[in-house]
Amino acid sequence: MGMETLEFQAEARQLLQLMVHSIYSNKDIFLRELISNASDALDKLRLATLQDGLEADTSDLHIEIEADTEARTLTVRDNGIGMTREEVVDLIGTIAKSGTADLLTRLKEATEARDAELIGQFGVGFYSTFMVADKVTLVTRKAGTEGHGTRWESAGEGTYTIDDAPDVPVGTSVTVHLRPKDEEDALFDYADAWKIKEIVKHYSDFISFPIRMGSGDDVETLNSMKALWARPRSEVSDEEYHQFYRHISHDWSDPLEIINMRAEGTFEYEALLFLPSRAPHDLFQRDARRGLQLYVRRVFIMDDSKELIPDYLRFVKGVVDAADLSLNISREILQQDRHIQMIRRRLVKKVLSTIKDLLNNHPEKYATFWREFGRALKEGLLNDPDNQKAILDVSTFSSTEGTEPTTLAAYVERMKEGQEEIYYLTGESRSQVENSPHMEAFQAQGYEVLILTDPVDEIWVEAVPDYDGRKLQSVARGTVDLPKDKEEPEPEGDFGPLLSFLKERLEASVKEVRLSHRLTTSAACLVSDTDDITPTLEKMYRAMGQ
Ligand code: ADP
Ligand code: MG
Repeated sequence: MGMETLEFQAEARQLLQLMVHSIYSNKDIFLRELISNASDALDKLRLATLQDGLEADTSDLHIEIEADTEARTLTVRDNGIGMTREEVVDLIGTIAKSGTADLLTRLKEATEARDAELIGQFGVGFYSTFMVADKVTLVTRKAGTEGHGTRWESAGEGTYTIDDAPDVPVGTSVTVHLRPKDEEDALFDYADAWKIKEIVKHYSDFISFPIRMGSGDDVETLNSMKALWARPRSEVSDEEYHQFYRHISHDWSDPLEIINMRAEGTFEYEALLFLPSRAPHDLFQRDARRGLQLYVRRVFIMDDSKELIPDYLRFVKGVVDAADLSLNISREILQQDRHIQMIRRRLVKKVLSTIKDLLNNHPEKYATFWREFGRALKEGLLNDPDNQKAILDVSTFSSTEGTEPTTLAAYVERMKEGQEEIYYLTGESRSQVENSPHMEAFQAQGYEVLILTDPVDEIWVEAVPDYDGRKLQSVARGTVDLPKDKEEPEPEGDFGPLLSFLKERLEASVKEVRLSHRLTTSAACLVSDTDDITPTLEKMYRAMGQ
């Protein structure tokens, strides 16, 4: 095919611009990104030999770093899966990740300070090399292909060149040509061995393949390669957990909570889970990546294993390492495997009990958790009947009492004498709900009403019959009997003719006209029949085109 000069895709160009102008001050991370890609490539090669029967030498999978202080270059080399020419164009020349367009619009709106944070959420990966480089060269050959490899080169501006490369081994090498030193960076150079060691130790120690530097007798392995989930919690620093979290989640903010699990006996597994501190932008998008990483006895098997965690806990990140699964287990088998189902059940229990612990003992963390993920968690009230009670226990809701969200348990505790049901009203916003005429009698008589404003609230309240034997009752539905109603039923008396008149006039629009205690200042309000859908739900269905 020979040499071609191609243009970066528009989004890729925009991201590169940001990198070249280096809005993120911590440039060290470019090396972490290269090592992370190399590690992924090694995982993929091992997996291809295990599962697809690819013939390849996997006896010495490793990462090599070579630095040249004179030429001021740094090379990261792996003997992993490699890329074909087409793959280089697709993977390096474009950004295929969903949400990139969204990122770019948000970047336009954001302040500089938020930029780095936003970019972190999307993990720009390879492009981060352009924070330190004025030229990057990538040479690669795909495992299982014969003949020449591919050479890619760019200065990070609008274009890159791509060419055939003779005599290259299987795997990928990325050479970063460092920019001229400026004052700010004069303390060190990214080609300095001590700096490289420092970065590897700090960011990539847990990588499960050896990261080597040096030549001949002088070869040194820079990382300990210890699987973090297999180490006792007391021996691992928060910083190490955080770096590992970044490696698997591509989220630059620190996790909110770290969860270690270990099961011994008939079915052994270890798990290391994280509750993020911030919801990803695509939490409510169907095509978003979700699921945990699956390992079998330290060997990476797959990313995004949805079988390990239910959808409503899709924000949970982490790793499960199972001892007794086959290395070539497929996704299809995974779905039916009863060990996997058992692990999944245990993980759910553990995550819910961790959230409960946050609620009881770490109110600030809980508040962050609930703000970011409460809406997703509530989906479980519909989809996971077995854990409905446990989910309700860790859920909190706005109410007419105070400004802080309340648990249902606390609501029940405050219920007035004679009150048997938990009152709620759904709507689009707190103020809309508060000003609803349905509220009047409840407010006037001092009954607390839960204010439910998430779209999912409309649906789960239908699915959850009660909490601890207390029925959930919408104040906009049917004849809600306030305890007072029961004592003195309202005689139609003088209102008879008025009611008949209204019934006749409104026949086409309403089922019934009746007297009520619920209003104190408004003259009338519309209520749904006990079995009718609520107005917000009706609106939702209509919006969905039903
Ligand atoms: P990410 O790693 O989040 O996918 P990157 O920008 O770091 O994003 O890398 C983009 C893609 O380029 C990777 O998903 C991978 O397919 C490919 N790639 C990068 N580095 C390598 C490598 N060393 N070996 C094989 N493929 C690679
Ligand atoms: Mg990457």
